[in-house]
Amino acid sequence: MFNEKNCPFCKKPAQKNCAHLALAAEGRDFVRRCIELSQGELQWRLLCEQRRMTLRQTGDWSPEAEDFTWLETAFGNEFLRGLAWFGGLDHEWRSGPKPAQGGYWVLLWSKDPRRLWWELRDVIERRIVNSASTAAPPPKAQNPRNERADSAAAW
Ligand SMILES: [Zn+2]
Repeated sequence: MFNEKNCPFCKKPAQKNCAHLALAAEGRDFVRRCIELSQGELQWRLLCEQRRMTLRQTGDWSPEAEDFTWLETAFGNEFLRGLAWFGGLDHEWRSGPKPAQGGYWVLLWSKDPRRLWWELRDVIERRIVNSASTAAPPPKAQNPRNERADSAAAW
């Protein structure tokens, strides 16, 4: 097997699922699984909505601005790497039931996965409060044409 990864703490191969493997998931499932395991689904949905609204208001929205909602690298950089219990992020090729179904799995390591998930939920919660208190009120002097367009779009 090529590309096998070992636990950074006890050096066991990832396939042995040692206690430090917080999560092993296919790339496309990774972010969702992280949110599930941290039991922060509600907070996460709120945070994503806030982000989207802020970005649309400021006109900074772009597809890349939402990468953190599904791309493990963007999510990892923003939410995981700063955590005290973050132990590492790896990619490992795993074959599926058929060769064509193989794919890259994302491995998330932690010395104590349970604490990592608590910490993650904390961080998500704190981001919500912060963005709510620092968000500027919508500008009053908006172009009336835009307002009409907005209400028309709402219908
Ligand atoms: Zn280990």
